[in-house]
Amino acid sequence: MNLVKLNLTTLLLLLLILTTGCLKKVNVHEKGKAKIKFGLVIHGGAGNIRKDIFTKEQEQKYENKLREALLTGYSILEKGGSSVDAVEKTIQILEDSPLFNAGKGAVFTNAGTNEMDASIMDGKTLNAGAVAGVRHIKNPISLARLVMDRSPHVLLAGLGAEEFAKEMGVNLVDTSYFFTESRWKSLQRIKEKNALKKSKGQSFINLDKPDKFGTVGCAALDKYGNLAAGTSTGGMTNKMYGRIGDSPIIGAGTYANNKTCAVSATGHGEYFIRNVIAYDISAQMEYRHISLKRAAENDIMQKLVKQNAEGGVIAIDKLGNIVTTFNTKGMFRGFMVAGGEPIIKMYKD
Ligand code: ASP
Repeated sequence: MNLVKLNLTTLLLLLLILTTGCLKKVNVHEKGKAKIKFGLVIHGGAGNIRKDIFTKEQEQKYENKLREALLTGYSILEKGGSSVDAVEKTIQILEDSPLFNAGKGAVFTNAGTNEMDASIMDGKTLNAGAVAGVRHIKNPISLARLVMDRSPHVLLAGLGAEEFAKEMGVNLVDTSYFFTESRWKSLQRIKEKNALKKSKGQSFINLDKPDKFGTVGCAALDKYGNLAAGTSTGGMTNKMYGRIGDSPIIGAGTYANNKTCAVSATGHGEYFIRNVIAYDISAQMEYRHISLKRAAENDIMQKLVKQNAEGGVIAIDKLGNIVTTFNTKGMFRGFMVAGGEPIIKMYKD
């Protein structure tokens, strides 16, 4: 009798083990089914971007350049390239265009110079590279990539960063390469406005709220589930000597972590630094287990709005969900995920 009891218990135990095993298997299988949708999202700055201030022709120019950048990044991902490569190459295209405030189209400082910042982060390794205040680098994003890949540091600034560029065989360009008429005029307009305020005895802030922030950025997820993000900028028109914005600050303007998401920001940099926006979005996902959309909205639509700070972010999470969130009138942006169409937008939906 005892023997029968024992056998029955063993049988039951065995059954239990087998069922749990199966259940576990089903869970793993289901988890494996959560398909990674590779893709990328880009921005060309946020701000007072309204339909009534652009001609059809101007609109077309922006859309074409954003599309060219987006498709370049997408084709890298589609062919099995890494998210880091896609981010770098996509941003290079935007840097080479005078339309955006990065590389060729960088804005002018108060002293009439162009000083650029950029950063890139690999979500798989959490490795990152950045450059700040560079004046002779055609593609600051690629120098940031070299800092990440070929130096033991994260952020190199000014002359040191340019010395490193020379060592890496990067050609330095003359500062005249960055001259564009429209950016020069913007600086003059701000200076005239400030002079007028000063003459009336009114207080003025050196960094006036700009019409638009033309910084560029990209966040990507590759076929292997690796996330990356990058940002490049000329900063803010009329910025003071040595001013560094959020774009080269890992955690403020750029962040990527395979556990959560990849983020690139644009807007009034000082606020993005103070609120550590890009990292905060990732941290909310990691610790509060909330969606990318909610995390981005908490920061951009709640926190920053309360501080009267303008800007936006683009981000992609580890499953390929994309957000483009901004509290300004518009944001130059675009995205494309596996099997989908390229989407380009400038104004609010
Ligand atoms: N965030 C940049 C900065 O403050 C500006 C921009 O987004 O256009 O330097």
